[in-house]
Amino acid sequence: MTPPALRTREDCARRDAEDPLAPLREAFALPEGVVYLDGNSLGALPVATAARVRGVIADEWGNGLIGSWNAAGWMDLPRRVGDRIAPLLGAGAGEVLVADSTSVNLYKVLHVALGLARSRDPARAVIVSERGNFPTDLYIAQSVADACGATLRQVEPDAVVAALDASVAVLLLTHVDYRSGRRHDLRAVQRAASFAGVLVVWDLSHSAGAVPLSLVDDAADFAVGCGYKFLNGGPGAPGYVWAHPRHLEHIEAQGLVQPLSGWIGHRTPFAFAADYAPASGIARFQCGTPPVLALAALDCGVATLRAADALGGVPALHAKAQALIALFIALVDEHCDALGLALRTPRDADRRGSQVSFAHATGGYAIVQALIARGVVGDFRAPDLVRFGIAPVYTRFVDVWDAVAHLRDVLASGEWRDPKFEVRAPVT
Ligand SMILES: *Cc1c(COP(=O)(O)O)cnc(C)c1O
Repeated sequence: MTPPALRTREDCARRDAEDPLAPLREAFALPEGVVYLDGNSLGALPVATAARVRGVIADEWGNGLIGSWNAAGWMDLPRRVGDRIAPLLGAGAGEVLVADSTSVNLYKVLHVALGLARSRDPARAVIVSERGNFPTDLYIAQSVADACGATLRQVEPDAVVAALDASVAVLLLTHVDYRSGRRHDLRAVQRAASFAGVLVVWDLSHSAGAVPLSLVDDAADFAVGCGYKFLNGGPGAPGYVWAHPRHLEHIEAQGLVQPLSGWIGHRTPFAFAADYAPASGIARFQCGTPPVLALAALDCGVATLRAADALGGVPALHAKAQALIALFIALVDEHCDALGLALRTPRDADRRGSQVSFAHATGGYAIVQALIARGVVGDFRAPDLVRFGIAPVYTRFVDVWDAVAHLRDVLASGEWRDPKFEVRAPVT
């Protein structure tokens, strides 16, 4: 759906002025003069975060010292922040745990999912994932397969469901692809997998907070995801884990133990028992001591996003993002024609997440650098993608207009060919 009225920058400014979600942007400390289109990689800083983290440091840590584990509720933060995230996933209270990184959570959850699948059918020994999945997902899947005597099979994204034969135990799928922004139909894939006797581990890193999710209603199996992308938790924020309650019961009944059985996941950590006995429920996925400062920042990030609840929540944010992406694509079609960009994101709003990507045969990296020099921050994803994240909680229609205007200028002038834009930094 391309808003036909947005023919000029003034049209976009008017659309922003009429946007009921527009005030949410004021809760973010965005620098002047920057069009930030990388909130899918590192969410922007909420205004509230600095004061909250300062308070945790000065009051809770400085004055409360070790007593704050109890008095300030530090020990419960993984559950409390999980409860704040839960509605974004379509999960219930007490079902989501915040801990570790997405990579580590993947290791724990895949291992348990594999054990559960094999407890039902020992002949199943394959983990299926899609070729081109985010590298950490494939690396971790390989290491779980190696540790458990299973095999990782990578298939094309469109062939995922067809690959779920009787040898497959677990399907590891990223809901929204980090390169193209293509989105799997979670409910349909989950249903097909369940029908085939396969458990699914969903990576929601590029979905949660940007795409409506209903994990419980869709009878999803397991999920993990990132805290520092659309959840605005800050650099290196911990990730989250969810398992459908029906599985937690089976995991307990089977005596399955997650492989990183640290003391904080113990039933009674402060009994300092000699033997490991997992906590019940999702808490069994904890390993070590919670990162309190990072959890406080993530709590603020999620709370800032959840301010949208009163304005329609994620469905309203998602609808706005789709309008922004449609505008982005329409403007590129119109103004950047024959400038070498090829759209890599589905035109169908039902098949994409909250970003838009274009391939450029030779200039991808340098184009992104030239845009950053002009204050338009997107990112480059090897081998050839120029990627723009749309975080509807703070991205405006004028931002899209300005981004495409700069993109057109950078391409039409050949500005990106300046060798200084080819200098590669370690992080792209
Ligand atoms: C961002 C992202 C990750 C990040 O994992 P970390 O352990 O936080 O580095 C993992 N998987 C996917 C699909 C991602 O998009």
